Amino acid sequence: MPVEHLLKAYALLERITPLPVDCGKFCSRACCKGDSQTGMELFPYEDMLLKGKKDFSILPAEDIEKYGLCVCEGFCRREERPLACRIFPFFPLVYTNKRTGRLEIRIIQDPRGRSLCPLVQQDISPQPIFERRLRRATRILLKDPVLREYILKTGSFLMDIEAFRRKLIKT
Ligand code: SF4
Ligand code: SF4
Repeated sequence: MPVEHLLKAYALLERITPLPVDCGKFCSRACCKGDSQTGMELFPYEDMLLKGKKDFSILPAEDIEKYGLCVCEGFCRREERPLACRIFPFFPLVYTNKRTGRLEIRIIQDPRGRSLCPLVQQDISPQPIFERRLRRATRILLKDPVLREYILKTGSFLMDIEAFRRKLIKT
């Protein structure tokens, strides 16, 4: 069941955060300060898990390839937060190793966080245990074809954003 894959991923990323310290102290929790139209992008099936939870509203996706947006009031019960909140500002880039033909997972910074997140702005890497947990969680999510497609497409989209940004810097 895809929802079970998500719950396993939630559990792996329940207590482990990108840094061993509370990074919200650097920025007054900038990523938790959206507005009624700004939120965290949901992974497939997450709307089923979060619907009805009192800390969140789910906005429908405008794009057919997206799965909705989780909007909050700037606080939540930590154990209920969506996957995007657990991994921000990082994302598992899944790609095929050309030499071995195998799928590999690289944890990359999410360029969508550049405008607000000091970890992206200052090019700070996550702690190794977070990377390992996110890789494990990703391997579980990849078992479902819809989650797999979402992860592959989003990773590729993030690489395009980053390539575009680098091109702009050079010009
Ligand atoms: S914006 Fe970045 S540094 Fe600040 S709380 Fe969010 S993830 Fe941590
Ligand atoms: S759902 Fe929770 S962790 Fe996510 S942005 Fe809102 S307050 Fe922050």
